[in-house]
Amino acid sequence: MVELALALLPVAAATGWYVAHKHYKNSTKHSTLDHSTYFQGLNHLINEQSDKAVDVFVNLLEIDSETIEVHLALGTLFRKRGEVEKAIRLHQNLMARPELGHVVRLGVLNELGMDYMHAGLLDRAESLFLELEQHPEHRLNVTKQLLSIYQQEKEWLKAINYARKLQSLDSPPQHVLLAHLHCELALMLINSHDAKEAKSNLKKALKYDQLCVRSNLINAEIELVNKKYKVALEYLMSIKQQNNNFVPVFLEMFILCFNQLKKQNEKLQFLAIVESEINSDLLTNAFVLALSEQKGNENAVVFLKNKLSESPRLSDITKLSSMLVDKRGDLEIKTLSDALNALYHQRLHFLCNRCGFDSEKLNWMCPSCKHWGTITPVNN
Ligand SMILES: [Zn+2]
Repeated sequence: MVELALALLPVAAATGWYVAHKHYKNSTKHSTLDHSTYFQGLNHLINEQSDKAVDVFVNLLEIDSETIEVHLALGTLFRKRGEVEKAIRLHQNLMARPELGHVVRLGVLNELGMDYMHAGLLDRAESLFLELEQHPEHRLNVTKQLLSIYQQEKEWLKAINYARKLQSLDSPPQHVLLAHLHCELALMLINSHDAKEAKSNLKKALKYDQLCVRSNLINAEIELVNKKYKVALEYLMSIKQQNNNFVPVFLEMFILCFNQLKKQNEKLQFLAIVESEINSDLLTNAFVLALSEQKGNENAVVFLKNKLSESPRLSDITKLSSMLVDKRGDLEIKTLSDALNALYHQRLHFLCNRCGFDSEKLNWMCPSCKHWGTITPVNN
């Protein structure tokens, strides 16, 4: 409340100026009423009754070229406070005033569009922003808002169109965003059984962003559905080239391809390489399992013991204890192993490198800061 009271001070000051100005300019007929109402508003403000203060100031102000700025500031204040309905009412009232000039009217229209965005009234916001689009002074904000609307409505073709428009305006490159929008469109096309067009969009995604892991992932998934394991593995290997931290995330797909292609030696070799490159308990567990299957349990135990002597990790101790139980069947070791297994939980971990959002699920668009492609796996 103190923050709001502070935020209202400029409004109070502007209103005070207006009242004084009017008193000076006009006859004294209404000035007593204006002054007493103004001081009533100030009193509410001093007593931190901000809601009442806002109402008093709104009622006090007439709309003319001198007070329009105060009205617009109040509208923004309402919106920022989450009182979107009040902001909408204020801006709609302004729009109804015939005395409003053309430029001011466009500014109010833009504010009303922003209110609708905050209220989630996307259809109304869309029609307002489409109306405003032809006016260059509002084009940048209008393009950003329409891009946001079409993403929320999953209208990917339109979103691509506005992302490209945004790029052509004075704005930073939108390559990562465009790559993800093409991936979204590809997924929609896959659902409509248009694999050819889907693949064409995945190609465009990679053209916009060579590091678009998602494009190769969707391609690999398409090939896996068609049981084309060799091609699927090629796409997965491209992901390893792009960012090897993603290998643990899609590890099951890699292993499925190797197994289906009956390439056990290649699988062991691949796991040995990625295990040495990436610090991940998922990869170590997969390598130890493959090593045990192909070279025997003893080799796997030796590998884990060496790894533990270099840097002990709970995951490796837990795995080693399980392997020793299998090997010796010792009841005391089994008790220890059960306790370790209860403590250790294998999990994936992701972080947004923009806002720090922490999750156990891979989101291509950060649920917190709404940026695409900013979430990456954190291995341990
Ligand atoms: Zn984020």
